[in-house]
Amino acid sequence: MRMKTIPHYYDYNSAEPFKAAILEIRHLAAGTSAVTLDATIFYPEGGGQPADRGAINGVPLLNVIEKDHEILHIISRENAEKLAPGIAELALDAERRRDHTVHHTGQHLLSGTILRMTGAYTLSMHMGDETCTIDVDIKDLPAETLVAVEDAAQTAIEEDHPVITHLCPPENISAFPLRKQIPHVDEVIRVVEIQGCDFSPCCGTHLRSTGQIGVLRVLGAEKYKGMSRVYFIAGRRVLRDSRLLRRNADIVSRALKVPVAETGAGVLALLEKISKHEQKLKFFQEGDAMRKAKSLAAAFSGMEKTGGNPRVVTASFMDADMEETLRIGKAAQSLAPAVLVLASEPEIKFAAFSSVNGFDLRPTLKTALDANHGRGGGGPSFFQGVFEKLEDLHAFMAALR
Ligand SMILES: [Zn+2]
Repeated sequence: MRMKTIPHYYDYNSAEPFKAAILEIRHLAAGTSAVTLDATIFYPEGGGQPADRGAINGVPLLNVIEKDHEILHIISRENAEKLAPGIAELALDAERRRDHTVHHTGQHLLSGTILRMTGAYTLSMHMGDETCTIDVDIKDLPAETLVAVEDAAQTAIEEDHPVITHLCPPENISAFPLRKQIPHVDEVIRVVEIQGCDFSPCCGTHLRSTGQIGVLRVLGAEKYKGMSRVYFIAGRRVLRDSRLLRRNADIVSRALKVPVAETGAGVLALLEKISKHEQKLKFFQEGDAMRKAKSLAAAFSGMEKTGGNPRVVTASFMDADMEETLRIGKAAQSLAPAVLVLASEPEIKFAAFSSVNGFDLRPTLKTALDANHGRGGGGPSFFQGVFEKLEDLHAFMAALR
């Protein structure tokens, strides 16, 4: 029979090394190995709380899981040979643990507060690297309710309510006014009480009192499968988040020359101004394209009359990019049926247009492209191409003429 690992993760949260004995090192699939210990300070993944990280004799933990009543400390297969049965030093990533403990305790407080204020139960929780969420059994949580919940939770943090863990035999569980129901079990149940706020069965790690949460921010809520998903952060994550937001707000404030409190309105006003400028710019660009198109028009007037094939009108623009070149081509086409090949010298590209009935651009252009090291593609009435060298574009345009 396998020896049971004594859990010390509920009472140990320090970065100071902890001595325990390695019992066994077992190879698992997928290049990993599992270490079992006679006692552990590492919390195994469970109850919505991610597993601890840390090291055993300097070998980093990839994960900690509980499987078939065994706690497995997962390490990489290549590191397995660095460990052997016997006494070892366990080192906990205490900062990560504290972050999880703060958010787990914060979650109880938040769920208890939402239940008290709205009557809605929390059905699940998730602790992410960036934000944590709870899914609350209520269709809608308006912004003003979230603010009221946040304020009430902060009051409970300031009042520093004790957090007490009760170890309850399953037959006595009905003595507790539990926030969530639990499946029937044979083992002792851990009931976590935030005095005056909440009772909840939970196997995670918790703080000694709500004051240690420090601060809890409700970031927002969204509708999710008929429920509300509430996003929150607590403790130092609030500090990091605030620093990041302030840094960004300061940049916007300086750039727009408005106070930080008015940056939102400032950005919206700027966007509206840009939109007006863009409309004006479009008007001028189209006017300019039409002027250039009209000067081309003289060249193609009456060209359909020169026999079976229309003549091809070519023009190279030395200072127009492709966007402008395309604008000129479209404007020219609106004037009269024509076959146009227009080149943008800065981009070493061309665009060809045909509005002449039954005329296919492709055969002529492909021959000229192949002869001058160009690449391109398109259909019978619109075709585009590109060259590596400007002299190839020049030779291509000369060939068409
Ligand atoms: Zn908990």
